[in-house]
Amino acid sequence: MTIREQWVSTAKYELLQSPGFAALPAASRDTLERWMPEPGNELSGFLRFEVARLLRSDEYKNAAPPAQAQQLEQLMEAQSFRPAVAVVLATPRSTRAPYEVVRGEDGQHTVRVSGREVPVKLAPLQDDSLHQHTVDDVAKGLAGLPPLQLSQVTKVVVAGAPNPSDAAFGEHIGRRDFRSYMTAGADGVVTIYPAPNAHGQRELDATLLHETGHTLSHRRWGHDATDGAKWAPWREAIASDRLFVSDYAAADVGEDFAETFALYSQVKGTEQEAGLRQMLPERFRLIDALVAGEQ
Ligand SMILES: [Zn+2]
Repeated sequence: MTIREQWVSTAKYELLQSPGFAALPAASRDTLERWMPEPGNELSGFLRFEVARLLRSDEYKNAAPPAQAQQLEQLMEAQSFRPAVAVVLATPRSTRAPYEVVRGEDGQHTVRVSGREVPVKLAPLQDDSLHQHTVDDVAKGLAGLPPLQLSQVTKVVVAGAPNPSDAAFGEHIGRRDFRSYMTAGADGVVTIYPAPNAHGQRELDATLLHETGHTLSHRRWGHDATDGAKWAPWREAIASDRLFVSDYAAADVGEDFAETFALYSQVKGTEQEAGLRQMLPERFRLIDALVAGEQ
């Protein structure tokens, strides 16, 4: 067992013994315990490691219980244990439906999968230093989507140049170097952009789950995640759960849905589902209802 694994395994026990934990308001104690489910998962492991590190720090050890409680509140608020993106939190399912690629003229291909025909347009790459996915990568990705997510996709465009909207969106989320990998609208058109570093199949698979989440939520709740009335339950669920699955999720309400939905889709029916449902109960409940309404 590595030091990290030891800390992760004992963090909850140590926390519950700490006078700083006892000094927290009851609601915060409940929330922090809810974020440390048994069995654990990647996200709760990151949190446990952060908790263990705090409990061992001089700053915490030398503080009186009320000041320790403040440090715990600060940890819950800052959530610096979060990953940058949710893709790393679960392994996408490896099962894929049988598929067929029908190659057409001028980069206009068709992928046949699960009784559907999805057009895939491959635009010529305009910058040789960038990497572009092939129609086979895309076909494999589509074949890995659960039926609900696959049904959101009406067309895939593999673009030949970066997304012209990157600068404006990067400004919105406070990341000037932002580069979109994939986007999707309410019309179900998924666009995949070329990138300086090649993206692997795992990333393509997980990002397709994220993007089909955008399509589903835009179609059902509209575009305005920040103020739209239909998005209000999701915003309330964020406030209630408190926890974000990634920094990217925390940057924007719409991204929070797509990131949480992708993770939900990856862990649904696996042994990780119960723990993440305990950590994100309101969001998982809303996704359950949304998914049930589509069936
Ligand atoms: Zn997104």
